[in-house]
Amino acid sequence: MKSGLGLMNRRRFALPNRFRPHHFAFDIDGVVADTMAVFVELVRKELGIRHFSKDDIVEYELYKCVPAPKETIDEVLCKTLSDEYTEMIPPMPGAKEFLTRLGKLADLRFVTARVWPDSIIKWLHKLLPDIDKRRIQVVATGDPGAKKRILKDMGVKVFVEDRLDTCCALRKEGFHVILFDQPWNREADGFFRIRHWKELEKFIEWDEGAERL
Ligand SMILES: [Mg+2]
Repeated sequence: MKSGLGLMNRRRFALPNRFRPHHFAFDIDGVVADTMAVFVELVRKELGIRHFSKDDIVEYELYKCVPAPKETIDEVLCKTLSDEYTEMIPPMPGAKEFLTRLGKLADLRFVTARVWPDSIIKWLHKLLPDIDKRRIQVVATGDPGAKKRILKDMGVKVFVEDRLDTCCALRKEGFHVILFDQPWNREADGFFRIRHWKELEKFIEWDEGAERL
């Protein structure tokens, strides 16, 4: 019964086809970068909540997940996104390998809601040393709601994202959305969900992209 349901879900949520390499764009935090790993470490060390783990972040709204005052949580979040701590963020497993392969075929486009992108651009350059820096494009919107306009202007068809509200908004605009699995987005239904970057490989026209670009 369980496997039957699994099959149904895979059919229902499957993307319709493969896409050319330049049709993709990616969110960064929670997708390429395991940003919450640093946040969790800071919550443990600086707030003394030693049992806290990423699995406790069951909502995107951090104030509901961390047992601490709002101002304190804001401080930890600011620190996480600071230049110093951004440098320490580990990548999600498989991101480097996938993006290095894709980056040989097309420009890599990243659209983040961060306000200040410099530190994360530096982080991406360090993650992807084999990709020409000019082929790594990062747009910082400062607002998740602004992503749809940017993605439309870029001609993007598929976006990989971990924030549910953004996924819903983009789907309404006609984008194909791939939800990157995280503890804070597991309530979702109706999105194609991946748990590892390797799962994205089957949606790329690898050879065709190589010929055309
Ligand atoms: Mg994100």
